[in-house]
Amino acid sequence: MNAEHPSTATSQRSDGSRPDLSNANVREDLALAGRCALVHLPSGRTCLLPLRHQGPCDFHGPDEAADVVSAEQ
Ligand SMILES: [Zn+2]
Repeated sequence: MNAEHPSTATSQRSDGSRPDLSNANVREDLALAGRCALVHLPSGRTCLLPLRHQGPCDFHGPDEAADVVSAEQ
């Protein structure tokens, strides 16, 4: 008597087209620039490696993140 259908349970949000952004702390401006953009909350730094990069994230400060955003636009 289980009325739930797992196939309909989704973590996707209706407000975005990137489901990978819905469950992490990501800077949207960097994500749109094609970067991993994952935010390391304790330090506030952001991963500037390409999206779906290999290996661990490499976090950089806001100045470098701003350079990336401005370079991609
Ligand atoms: Zn990363």
